[in-house]
Amino acid sequence: MLPSLLNEAPHALPLHVVTPESWEALPGAGFARASGFTGKPGEIALLPGEAGLAGALFGAPRSAEGYGALPYGLPEGTDWRLVGGDAAAATLGWALGAYRYTRFKPGKRAPARLLAPAGTEESQAIAAAICRARDLINTPANHLGPAELAEAVGEVASRHGAAFRVIAGEELARGFPAVQAVGQGSPRAPRVAVLEWGAPDAPLVALCGKGVCFDTGGLDLKPSSAMLRMKKDMGGAAVMLALAEALMALHTPIRLLLLIGAVENSVSGDSFRPMDVIRTRQGLTIEIGNTDAEGRLVLADLLTFGAEHQPRVILNAATLTGAARVALGPDLPALFSNDDALAEALLAGGIAAGDPLWRLPLHEGYATWLESPIADLNNVATKPMAGAIIAALFLRRFVPGDMRWGHMDLYAWNDTTRPGRPEGGEATGMRAALAGIRAMVDQGL
Ligand SMILES: [Zn+2]
Repeated sequence: MLPSLLNEAPHALPLHVVTPESWEALPGAGFARASGFTGKPGEIALLPGEAGLAGALFGAPRSAEGYGALPYGLPEGTDWRLVGGDAAAATLGWALGAYRYTRFKPGKRAPARLLAPAGTEESQAIAAAICRARDLINTPANHLGPAELAEAVGEVASRHGAAFRVIAGEELARGFPAVQAVGQGSPRAPRVAVLEWGAPDAPLVALCGKGVCFDTGGLDLKPSSAMLRMKKDMGGAAVMLALAEALMALHTPIRLLLLIGAVENSVSGDSFRPMDVIRTRQGLTIEIGNTDAEGRLVLADLLTFGAEHQPRVILNAATLTGAARVALGPDLPALFSNDDALAEALLAGGIAAGDPLWRLPLHEGYATWLESPIADLNNVATKPMAGAIIAALFLRRFVPGDMRWGHMDLYAWNDTTRPGRPEGGEATGMRAALAGIRAMVDQGL
């Protein structure tokens, strides 16, 4: 159980979740009114008791994240039980809001704790998976390289009885030449982590994550401002791992194949170079127009490997392009898909979960921008426009045309702390994908 949630709390105080119309008859309401409480969403009022604190009022929020204001909005060292409100949303939002990254120093204060209401196991599992993803994204690159990222996949696998293996060394160079090319400049060797789970006769869902543990840009080095947050360039891997963990924890009736391409894009004499031509697992040759467009190379081999297993759906996530952020900002991952039903399910899942995605087109007319005079493809376009679309068109070349495929280009980071969204790593898009996949499973996938 997450540290901000409790199974038992004999002295928990009542936390009344109220609307502006519903609180004035409660004991202590007069004090709350005199302190300026109106019951608006997100407002908190403490209620006095004879021996100190008797409870609190909380204006019902519009989203699960809204409950995330409570762990640090309520006094340190207090335990609470929910009265009214949405138990599932409250549990999720509370846990997400209580999260802090504390590996290198403790938090400023401990969060107030919530007695987890009965029947909120799903919320607890989702929150735990998201917090693990945040931890991975927040971990500095000197503490999280390709080996440690693969190890994290192994931990999740063993927790859920999934099969796990790591492809590295000679086997990686042969089977995943593009992953190898991206990671070969680092003394921390590249690898692919493979997790497999579920009943053999269940429909297969394949998930691929870009796990670039640090992205210097390679020989096409990033400027310092653009390199600053590149420990989060494994955000797609963290999101896909969290998604896999949640799907397993919720006993989703599917078979899972999770592929994490764990590499570091470094500068050395072994780094791949601009205008190198590399081979991919699928056989297509790629001329390197820019070594900083490395995530799509990693994903190319993962998508090929995933597609070889004939999944019903193949989904990938990546912190792939700055262009997606220019278009949609930090909170809205760009969604691309070759299948309208899959796209609709993911978009609807995002709205239902309060984790929205926005679909961008795989515009055919730009596909020629990826041509190379000496290879099948260049990894960057000839024009400095539509970068998110170009990256998606590149990835599409590695998925069979008749296979349902979705691609999320996401930021995986909160620039500032908001309720339920502490500054730092974020599993953006994870809840959208979870809700979308579960809806598709309900419809027979
Ligand atoms: Zn890059």
